[in-house]
Amino acid sequence: MTLPATDARPATLYPLHDDIGSVSLVQSVGDDKMIVNAARVSFGGDSDTPLTARDEKLIGYLLREHHGSPFEHNLITFKVVCPVFVDRQMVRHRVGVSKNEISGRYVEMQERVYVPAQFRQQAKSNRQASVEAGEHLDQAAATETYREAWNAAYTAYTRLLELGVTREQARGVLPQALYTESYYTFNVRSLLHFLALRDHEGAQYETRLYARAMHALAEPLFPVTFAAWAAQHTH
Ligand SMILES: Cc1cc2nc3c(=O)[nH]c(=O)nc-3n(C[C@H](O)[C@H](O)[C@H](O)COP(=O)(O)OP(=O)(O)OC[C@H]3O[C@@H](n4cnc5c(N)ncnc54)[C@H](O)[C@@H]3O)c2cc1C
Repeated sequence: MTLPATDARPATLYPLHDDIGSVSLVQSVGDDKMIVNAARVSFGGDSDTPLTARDEKLIGYLLREHHGSPFEHNLITFKVVCPVFVDRQMVRHRVGVSKNEISGRYVEMQERVYVPAQFRQQAKSNRQASVEAGEHLDQAAATETYREAWNAAYTAYTRLLELGVTREQARGVLPQALYTESYYTFNVRSLLHFLALRDHEGAQYETRLYARAMHALAEPLFPVTFAAWAAQHTH
C-alpha cells in the first residue's frame, strides 16, 4: 500500500485528506543542541555554542546505544483531530506523552465522521492488518452501508438529546468513526518510540498517516536527531 507523500511543511497537516482530520503543531521546546547538552552535562561539557559535527555524531551515538534520557528534555505539542479508533491506538502510548481531550460530557459532539475514500480487505498474512481491496469489494455498497450506519447513529444521538437524555449517556450510540480532538505533548524520546511503532507496516493505515504527519511537523525542529534516527531506523 502506498502512503501519500507529505507535501509542504505548514503548521497543520490533513492526514486523511478530508479537511477534518488534522495534526497541528501547537508549540515546541528545545532543539538538537539541548539533547547534546543534556548528554554532556554529566561531565561538565555542556555549552551554548552552535551545533558542531562532533555534536551531531554524539546524537547518532546516543540513539544507537539507546541512551534515551537526553531526548526527554524536548517537548512537542500537537493538536490532533482524529477518528476515535485512531485515538484509541494513540492513547496506548503511556510514557512521556500527555493528553487532554474534548469531553463528550461537556459538549454536544459535532457531526464529524471519517468516511474512508477506499475500503480495504482483511490481510491474509497478518490477522490484524488490511490490504488494498480487489474488484470483488463493492466500494459503492460499502460506502452506502457505512454512511447509513453513521446517519442512523447520529440521528439517534440527537434524538436522545432532544428527549432530555444526558450527553454522557447519549454519546453511547456514536460510532468509532466519530472525530475527537486532543492536545498531545510528546518528548522527543517518546515521539520516536511512537513513530517506530505507528509508522510501521504492521500499524493501521490511518494511524500511520497520523504518525507521518507528526513526523513531518517535528522533523524540522530537531533535524539532526531525525536524520540520525532515520539513518538507523528502517521499517
Ligand atoms: C501494530 C500494533 C498492534 C497492536 N495490537 C494491539 C492489540 O491487539 N491489543 C492491545 O491491547 N494492544 C495492541 N497494541 C498496543 C501495544 O501493545 C502497546 O500498548 C502500544 O504500542 C504502546 O507501546 P509501548 O507500551 O511500548 O509504549 P509506552 O506505553 O509509551 O511505553 C514506552 C516503554 O516504556 C516501558 N514501559 C511502559 N510501561 C511499562 C510497564 N508497565 N512495565 C514495564 N515497562 C513499561 C516499555 O519499555 C515501553 O516500550 C498494538 C500496537 C501496535 C503498534
